[in-house]
Amino acid sequence: MDDRIHISSIVLHRGEEPPISGEKGVVNVFFPSCNMQCVYCQNWEISCRGTKGTVMSIDEVCDAIINLLPVSENNLGFVSPTHFVLQMISIVEELRKRGFYPTIVYNTNGYELSETIRSLEGIVDVWLPDFKYSDDDLAVVLSEAPNYSQFALKALKEMVHQAGTTLHTDDRGIARRGIIIRHLVLPGLVSNSLGVLKLIEENLSPNLHISLMSQYYPPERILMQNRKSQFANQKFLRRPITRTEYEAVLEAFHTLGFTRGWLQQYESHQTYRPDFSKEHPFE
Ligand code: SF4
Repeated sequence: MDDRIHISSIVLHRGEEPPISGEKGVVNVFFPSCNMQCVYCQNWEISCRGTKGTVMSIDEVCDAIINLLPVSENNLGFVSPTHFVLQMISIVEELRKRGFYPTIVYNTNGYELSETIRSLEGIVDVWLPDFKYSDDDLAVVLSEAPNYSQFALKALKEMVHQAGTTLHTDDRGIARRGIIIRHLVLPGLVSNSLGVLKLIEENLSPNLHISLMSQYYPPERILMQNRKSQFANQKFLRRPITRTEYEAVLEAFHTLGFTRGWLQQYESHQTYRPDFSKEHPFE
């Protein structure tokens, strides 16, 4: 990426976890492209490597954010921000110059350098990382992300170091400081999910808020595959997860001592699919 501000969309989003979206929603800034390239990505229109989005000036970005903040829960999420961290910091600083201090949410896939996370102390209030893989071979095959678990663990340790293990909320239940770790359960890969929960329990804390997601749905490009396709070896990704798979992960969640967070309904894969070709991708 170059040093300009590339934006995919700036929208009010009501579909995040309750302390992030609240009733009114969070203002989400979606950056284009992604430092991982997951074959099952639901946001492929904007996250595919090389996607550039629209170049906007810092004033245009801040104007768009400030337009939406009053109708939101006064929180601002940056989605896939890893490769735009410097631009993100400039945006937050410009907003503060203009007198706006929304809660800053850093919505990342977890594939981060801990140095990057350290550089964001005092900028980010709420960390919203994924922890996708305990199996590093899988991370290479499915997301082009070598040594994923080591990078994610170090980055998450730094987040916990800064924000602690308690999620601080205001009187409306909106997160103002802390960390929520997301994990998407993938079909046929229960042991990867169990490994993720174990890594969090052993290396971070079972007191953290976990958001377990069952919403995986095979994207068109996986469903359309044929024997010659680059995804021919990932047949297991052609279906949603089964109820049995999800229950195995839920059981591990409880057995390992986790008590905080959100457990998505098993049926979520039937309803949750953003469409970034629409003006309002989540409606
Ligand atoms: S990390 Fe998320 S946004 Fe990036 S490619 Fe993977 S699923 Fe898509």
